[in-house]
Amino acid sequence: METKKKILIVEDEKNIAQVLQYNIIKSGYDAEIASDGGSGLVRALSGEFDLVLLDIMLPVMNGFEVCEQIRLKSQIPIIFVTAREEEKDKILGLDTGADDYVTKPFSFKELLSRIRANIRRSAGEPIAEKKAEEAAPVVIGDLSIDCAKYLVTKGGEPIELSKKDYDLLAFLAANLGRAYSREELLEEIWGYENYYGDTRNVDVTVCRLRNKIEADPSKPEYLMTKRGVGYYLRRP
Ligand code: CA
Repeated sequence: METKKKILIVEDEKNIAQVLQYNIIKSGYDAEIASDGGSGLVRALSGEFDLVLLDIMLPVMNGFEVCEQIRLKSQIPIIFVTAREEEKDKILGLDTGADDYVTKPFSFKELLSRIRANIRRSAGEPIAEKKAEEAAPVVIGDLSIDCAKYLVTKGGEPIELSKKDYDLLAFLAANLGRAYSREELLEEIWGYENYYGDTRNVDVTVCRLRNKIEADPSKPEYLMTKRGVGYYLRRP
């Protein structure tokens, strides 16, 4: 039997840590909790783990320091779990050496797909071993969306997308032609199940995406508005 991949959860809020651990174990991994930055660092470098979920506000050492210290010695995948937008900005702005991040509150589904992708990447698993539908990029007109590599190209040229831009595009591409309301997209992409949603997040992201993928963002050919419903992606 294949040995289970093991995930280290560095999180000082006991409830969050336990819910994460429960869900991760239920998803077929092993998981252990470290409740402060210092012990998190020691455990992360023990060689027992395949991935680290790293909170930022932590006792003893904060997540950024832990990440930096881990990177001096190890290339283990690190996913930051951030509570605030400012922290997200800091992750993007700093060369922290993290591989990925999720912003609280997140859906576990989203986190799990990031865990899978990062473990797979770090294992250097060859594409041929993946399921065909996972390995093949989705091609829509001039656009190509490669979920295995988090890579989007238009006319063969890579497009720089933020994580949310990418998530939204990949989600709509996977559900081509189906229109989703702003609320549905907020829940799917942002994971704000209990959030009295700021659906403007969706509009802003759609606008940014159009600027990147459309020839004329004011007359979109890919990312369409369905009046009274929401947004969908189509073949031009
Ligand atoms: Ca914390």
